[in-house]
Amino acid sequence: MELHVKDIIQWLEKTNEKIQLNKDYLTALDQAVGDSDHGINMSRGFHEVVNQVKTKDYTTVSDVLKDTAMILMSKVGGASGPLFGTAFLRFSMGVKGIDPINQDAFTKGLEDALAGIMQRGKATTGEKTMVDVWSPVVNYFKVTTNVQADEVTQTAKQAMEQTKEIMATKGRASYFKEKSIGHIDPGAASSFYIFEALSEVIKG
Ligand code: ADP
Ligand code: MG
Ligand code: MG
Repeated sequence: MELHVKDIIQWLEKTNEKIQLNKDYLTALDQAVGDSDHGINMSRGFHEVVNQVKTKDYTTVSDVLKDTAMILMSKVGGASGPLFGTAFLRFSMGVKGIDPINQDAFTKGLEDALAGIMQRGKATTGEKTMVDVWSPVVNYFKVTTNVQADEVTQTAKQAMEQTKEIMATKGRASYFKEKSIGHIDPGAASSFYIFEALSEVIKG
C-alpha cells in the first residue's frame, strides 16, 4: 500500500460522492437520535473540501490533509465538524514529511487521528459515536501486515452496524437514553463512508 497526493485526493472525492449520495440517509439517522442535520453538515463540508483541494497544487499528503481539516472545521459545524477536523489535522501532523505514505505511515496517521477524536470528544469505545468505527479500523491497520481493501470495508461496516445495538452516552444522542438503541449512529455511518472510500482507493 502506497498513497500519493493524487490517491488522497481521490479518497476525499470518493468520500464526498458517498456523502452526497447518502445525505438524506445520514440526516434520517440523525433524526432518530439527534437534530436531523448530520447529512446536511457533512454534505456541506465535503463538498467544500473537494472544491478546494481540486484547485490547488499539492506536493505533500500532509498538506492535503491539513487543508481538509481546516475546511471540515469551518464548514461542517455541529459536534462532528470539530471532531472530523481534529481527526484530519492530527492525521496531517502524523504523516508530515512522509511522501508517499506506506501502510506504516498511514497507520500512524490513523492512530493519531483517533487519539485526536477521543481527546476532543472525551469519548471512548462503546458510547455509540464515530469512535466505535474509527477504533476497530485503526486496530485492523495495526495488527494486519498486508491490509486488504475488502477487510477494511468489512471492519468498518460491522462496527457501524454494531452501534445500532448500544445506548448513546456522548453527544446529542445521549439525551435519547434507551431510545437511542436500535438506531445506527450518524457519525459512525459517515465514518463508514470515509473508510469504504479508502478501501476503494487501496483497491485501485
Ligand atoms: P450535532 O450532534 O451537533 O448536530 P452532527 O449531527 O453533525 O452534530 O454529528 C453527530 C455525530 O457526532 C454523532 O453521530 C457522533 O458520531 C458524533 N459525536 C457527537 N459527540 C461526540 C463525542 N463526544 N465524541 C465522539 N463523537 C461524537
Ligand atoms: Mg446533528
Ligand atoms: Mg446539530
